[in-house]
Amino acid sequence: MSQYAGNCRFLWNKALAINLHHLENKQPLLWYQELDWFSKLWKKSDEYEFLKLSPAQTLQQTLKQLERAFKDAFDKKQPLKKIPTFKKRGERDSFSFPQGFKLDGRRIFLPKIGWVNFRKSREIDGTAKNVTISRQGKYWFVSIQVEVELPEPIHPSISMVGVDMGVKRLITLSNGDFKEPILISFFKDKIKRLQKKLAKKMKFSANWKKLKEKINRLHTKISNIRHDTLHKLSTTLSKSHAMIVLENLQIKNMTKAAKGDMDNHGSMVKQKSGLNRVILDQGWGMFKTFLEYKQLWSGGQVLFVDPKYTSQTCPVCNHRSKDNRKTQSKFDCVLCGHKEHADVVGAKNILERGHRLLACGETDISLLSEAGTRQLSDELEPALV
Ligand SMILES: [Zn+2]
Repeated sequence: MSQYAGNCRFLWNKALAINLHHLENKQPLLWYQELDWFSKLWKKSDEYEFLKLSPAQTLQQTLKQLERAFKDAFDKKQPLKKIPTFKKRGERDSFSFPQGFKLDGRRIFLPKIGWVNFRKSREIDGTAKNVTISRQGKYWFVSIQVEVELPEPIHPSISMVGVDMGVKRLITLSNGDFKEPILISFFKDKIKRLQKKLAKKMKFSANWKKLKEKINRLHTKISNIRHDTLHKLSTTLSKSHAMIVLENLQIKNMTKAAKGDMDNHGSMVKQKSGLNRVILDQGWGMFKTFLEYKQLWSGGQVLFVDPKYTSQTCPVCNHRSKDNRKTQSKFDCVLCGHKEHADVVGAKNILERGHRLLACGETDISLLSEAGTRQLSDELEPALV
């Protein structure tokens, strides 16, 4: 399986390099048919004959995925997609079978590999269309893509909720509920310590490999915790509310401000970048994506509203002032004296804006300029492990 994943990675990188070179020289891109022709040529060469070891369809599937990635990157309707990147050894190792596999209870037949037992984490409904084998740390995973006919969903609830995403609290709802941030600093510190140790070891020695493996396992753990938390949270929210209102955040701007500029170095900048790192760590982009598709499935909706001054406006008398926000967590209206947790105030204002959006039909989606979202995804990627 390592060999198959490695061959797919090799082919992806090789085909990608050609296309990037074409892009640079303003030549047309090579699509699947041409790339497949090249791939067959490489297979016959002495230099790349290791490609022959792979099941042909896994290589073809890689080229199809690359073609899709390029098409998506240039698709204006998909502003979050970007130009594909090179794959590194041990990162995103995977290969797919579009056909030739068979399912039988808790075992699966894979072409050229044979029957393999797997731990079934959930029932497989619908028709299996595609099987992807991927590696995370030292474990191999199988994901089965299925096709299911779904009736037009109607959300069971009619309620609407505003969600404030923050640093001290991961999310706060307009009804006052909140969720503590995901604590991963413990693992991060451990990784840092191990990395220092790793630097002192001789590269590729037995001890180095052992340490490297340990670090990879921790990375996987962080990624799992984050994934799990955000999934649970978005499922609960999506099940409970037909309308979920979120702030239309431009994370790029926030991180840019935190990096500081020529005449703005200092402790404040340092503090802020720490804060922003935490924000990114929480995986906002991932959360947003989960909510959007879960709402789509359940017949609900996600609304995006302008985030300006949500934390400074009084939900009772509407008075807006910086002074209303006493500290990170305390809101105390200077006009009417209304006191509340600042994040709850934020969530209430977000909900209010959602109501207005529905009533007036004004659309805030335009705020998410194409450039803006592209940047957002650039910023989020490394934080999502
Ligand atoms: Zn007030």
